[in-house]
Amino acid sequence: MIDLRPWLDAVPDAVVERVRAAREILAVGHENPDADTIGSTLAIGRIVERAGGRATAVFTDPVPPLYDFLPGVERARTDPDPAVAYDLLVVSDCGTLDRIGAVRARHAELFDRLPRVVLDHHASNEGSGPTDWIDPGAAATCEMTALLAGRLAVPLDEGDGALAALLMAGIVMDTATFAHPNATPRTLAVSAALVEAGAPLSDISRRLYRTKPDSQLRLFGRVLDRLETAAGGRIVHSTLLDSDLSATGSIAAHSEGIIDLLAQSEAADVAILFKEAPEGTRISVRTKPGGVDATVLTGAFGGGGHARAAGATIGAPIAEARTRVLAEAERLSAALTP
Ligand code: 5GP
Ligand code: MN
Repeated sequence: MIDLRPWLDAVPDAVVERVRAAREILAVGHENPDADTIGSTLAIGRIVERAGGRATAVFTDPVPPLYDFLPGVERARTDPDPAVAYDLLVVSDCGTLDRIGAVRARHAELFDRLPRVVLDHHASNEGSGPTDWIDPGAAATCEMTALLAGRLAVPLDEGDGALAALLMAGIVMDTATFAHPNATPRTLAVSAALVEAGAPLSDISRRLYRTKPDSQLRLFGRVLDRLETAAGGRIVHSTLLDSDLSATGSIAAHSEGIIDLLAQSEAADVAILFKEAPEGTRISVRTKPGGVDATVLTGAFGGGGHARAAGATIGAPIAEARTRVLAEAERLSAALTP
C-alpha cells in the first residue's frame, strides 16, 4: 500500500475546510481545456459528491474529442447551471483568473460573489485570495487535487477507479508521462497511489500522447515542414494557419503537441509556435533548462505559464506578432549568452 500521509500536510487547512463545508460547488478550469484542468475539475466533483455535496464542471470552451475517454467528461458544461444555488467556486489550473475565459464575464456577478478556492501550480500565479493554494512545486494541478482528496479522506479508488484515472490524466499530461523535470518524488508517490487505485497509466499515456487522427498527423507535417530558425539556430519557430486546419480537415485543438515536437530541436533552446486565432495570434513557447524563462518571454505579451512551457494571446496579426516575439526572444537569449 502506498502511503501518502507524509505529503498531506502540504494542503492548506483553510482549503480543506472550505471544500469540506461546500454543498454546491461551481468547479471551473481554463479555456481550451487540457487533461490537467479537466482532470482536476471533474475530480473536485467526485470528491465533493463523496461528502454528500454536488458540483458542476464548467469550461468556457467545449472539451476537445481527445479527452472523450475521461470518465464523466460528458458532464462538462460551458456555463453554470442557472437552477443551482452555488456556495463555492473552485478554480483549477488557471495561472490567472483571466484564464477561466469568457464564461467568467458572462456570469460576472456569480463569479465575483462566490467564495473561492484556487488550486494551481503555475509559477507565474500571484494568487491573492485567502484560500488560493498555489504550489509551483507540483507537476500538475491534479497532483495537488489528489492530496486534497487524501486530506478529505476520499479514497483514490472512488468511482471504480474513475477518480484515479482523472487525476492520473492530468499528471501524465503535464509531465509528458514523467519525462519533464517537473516530476518529483511526490509526483511519483501520488502516481503510484493512483495506479494502485486503478488508474490505467499506460492507456492514458497512449491516448494523450500517442494517438492521433490521420488529419492531425498531416497537420503536424505541414507545420513541421515550415520550421524556421532565428538567432543562429538558438530559436526554432513555426506557424499554424487556419488554412492548415481546413486543408487537413483538422480542428484547432489538433495543434496540441506540435510545440513539443519543435522543442525536440537539438540546436535550439527556445521553441515557439505561432497560431492564427480569433483574437489575433496565440503563441506556445518551450525552453530548455538553464535557457530563457518561458514565463518572462510570454509575460512580455501578457501571457504566462511555467519556466519551461508557457503561452500568450497577442492582439496582432501573425506577421506582426512574429516580429515582436522573435525580437524579444532574441534579446532574452542574447542576455543569457556569456
Ligand atoms: P501551451 O503552450 O501548452 O498552450 O501552454 C503551456 C503552459 O502555459 C500551460 O501550463 C498553460 O496553462 C500556460 N499558458 C498558456 N497560455 C497562457 C496564457 O495566455 N496565459 C497564462 N497565464 N498561461 C498560459
Ligand atoms: Mn497544469
